[in-house]
Amino acid sequence: MPSLSLRITAGVILLLGICFCFFCFYPIHANAPSSLADDETGSKVSQRSDTPHEATAAIDQVKNEPNKPQPQPIDKNDASIQLPTTGQSAAATEDEPQQVDQTSPEEVTGSNEGLTPSPPASAEPIPDSTNQLIKRVEGIHNMVGITFDDGPVPQMTEQYLAVLDKLNVRATFFMIGQRIKYYPELARQVVEQGSEIGSHSWQHDRLDQTTADTIAKDLLSVANQVQADVGRSLSLFRPPYGRRSDTLLTVAEQLSFKVIIWDVDPRDWEDPPPEKIVASILEQVKPGSIIVMHEGHPNTLKALPDIIQKLRERGLEPVPVSEMLNHNQAQLDSNSTIGGN
Ligand SMILES: [Zn+2]
Repeated sequence: MPSLSLRITAGVILLLGICFCFFCFYPIHANAPSSLADDETGSKVSQRSDTPHEATAAIDQVKNEPNKPQPQPIDKNDASIQLPTTGQSAAATEDEPQQVDQTSPEEVTGSNEGLTPSPPASAEPIPDSTNQLIKRVEGIHNMVGITFDDGPVPQMTEQYLAVLDKLNVRATFFMIGQRIKYYPELARQVVEQGSEIGSHSWQHDRLDQTTADTIAKDLLSVANQVQADVGRSLSLFRPPYGRRSDTLLTVAEQLSFKVIIWDVDPRDWEDPPPEKIVASILEQVKPGSIIVMHEGHPNTLKALPDIIQKLRERGLEPVPVSEMLNHNQAQLDSNSTIGGN
């Protein structure tokens, strides 16, 4: 019987073995999909953990990509870009949003002169005044320069002059040569009223992007026109849009022109309400300031009496720019400790 017992025992062991194997191995297979899933997930996690590296590699690849966009070189013909080579002109129009003298095409209509449209305004910072480039006259305590650009304008210049005359004020009119040629009588009225004329170029072209020869011809053509029509010589020049270059400043100096820009700009060419023009000027103005305004704008005309009155209330008398310059020159002469320049 031991053999029977042994067989039974062996059979039980075999059975247990089969069961053991079944229960032990079944879970593996039962969970197989999950395990695989975990494994895949792990793989994915592993892949995800590599993702930043891949991304970095991708970025590196982009960085090394020969077609990657590079900083664009400065387009020297782009009117909105202030070139470093223009040195003191670093601007636009400041602006310096406030520093850009911008004449809209509408401002120069009313004649058949074919004046060019203005370039876009730019944020052009206006540099401090130099001996030749003047945005404000230092050393002045009770005066401000009052200037009107872009004239003469028929039916408007006369009205500006009437207001000035009534309030016993004289101003500087930076005029366009071609307009003087068309309306010489208006230019003469400006001088008869006691105001002065400055050059604002022949036809309001950008002169900061052109040659010395072109600039010289432009300045001389306006000066000759004024001499012929009004009998006055010119000494003040305001470049269109306030844009200047080293070349422009050099030529202007050679021809004995002071380049006059401004430190107060109410942006009247945008035709804000008169009270806004007044408020803007009062906000910015200081003794010795140079205020830029424009001819041909009804709101500027309406604002003018208030501007003059409020400036006077502050003890600031509006005068032509040359009067402030002459005042300083007289001071220099009386104190003259330095040789003439
Ligand atoms: Zn202008």
